[in-house]
Amino acid sequence: MKPSFQLQLVNDPFGDPALYVEFLFRKRAILFDLGDIHALAPRKLLRLSHIFVSHAHMDHFYGFDYLLRVCLGRAKTIHLYGPSGFIDRVEHRLGGYTWNLVENYVDELVFRVQEWDGGDTMRCAKFRCRHRFARESLPPERVAEGELLKEPGLKVRAAVLDHKIPCLAFALEESRHVNIWKNRLDELGLPTGPWLQALKQAIWRGERDDFPIEARWRENGVAQMRRFTLGELKEKILRIVPGMKVGYVVDTLYNEPNLRRLKSLLESVDCLYIEAGFARDAADSAAEKYHLTAAQAGQIARRVGAKRMVPFHFSARYAGEENPLYREAEAAFSGMSCP
Ligand SMILES: [Zn+2]
Repeated sequence: MKPSFQLQLVNDPFGDPALYVEFLFRKRAILFDLGDIHALAPRKLLRLSHIFVSHAHMDHFYGFDYLLRVCLGRAKTIHLYGPSGFIDRVEHRLGGYTWNLVENYVDELVFRVQEWDGGDTMRCAKFRCRHRFARESLPPERVAEGELLKEPGLKVRAAVLDHKIPCLAFALEESRHVNIWKNRLDELGLPTGPWLQALKQAIWRGERDDFPIEARWRENGVAQMRRFTLGELKEKILRIVPGMKVGYVVDTLYNEPNLRRLKSLLESVDCLYIEAGFARDAADSAAEKYHLTAAQAGQIARRVGAKRMVPFHFSARYAGEENPLYREAEAAFSGMSCP
């Protein structure tokens, strides 16, 4: 089943981290990390609704000013998520400019910022253009099982990793796809129509098999209706397949607590984007900087049961010599070597 989104690393593997996720037919996108994003056309930036920032080291957050420049003067709310201290980081960035002429802007840009420390709630604040981007505190929001965002068809979960500072890893999870067998509908003499949408929503809500579904339509001007249970329709006309799960992991120390958190976050991930910054012979250097080697990245992908791995965020010291990093990551991923 094709996923409902497309994935694009904004820069090459030596560039700043940023993973652009564009939803098909919806003119909407989300972003993981906000490094240098000049490679994204303004029309793509204007589609961003939610941005998840792993931590505020410069290569992960440098793109904020460009985003602000492109979106300023637009009627738009952008949700930003980050680790502890992130609201302060956003406030300082916005405080670096003079905002004396923005009160009369017709369209208002709003940043709604959430920071999460791994607990049951996240702190929230908003920054409105017409209020000169002054910080306004909002009530905290509940976070269950690391779910930072949950909406129909989609959720984003996070885990706090140790990068000498807290650093968030993310999992983007699509809801199950519900496909209708059109030929079986025809065999039952049932037409398509809005009732099928209600049927899909009942599945996404997790209703039980005895949940009643009414198929309603008009035939020659006469209202028609037939009753089914959800279980009957699942058997007769539906094919339900799992949605896609994407993982995003950068800047973390290879140790057991981090591995346990990643295992829980990324179980059976379809596609894992993972930093693979250093070669095996620089493992000490990677550990000193609280980063992963390519082999450790491959080993993590293997341990969480990833179906596919995309190594990236290579150290600049390997510029032009990235092939050994890919090879070391692949070898560990396939089980041919250990980190
Ligand atoms: Zn970092």
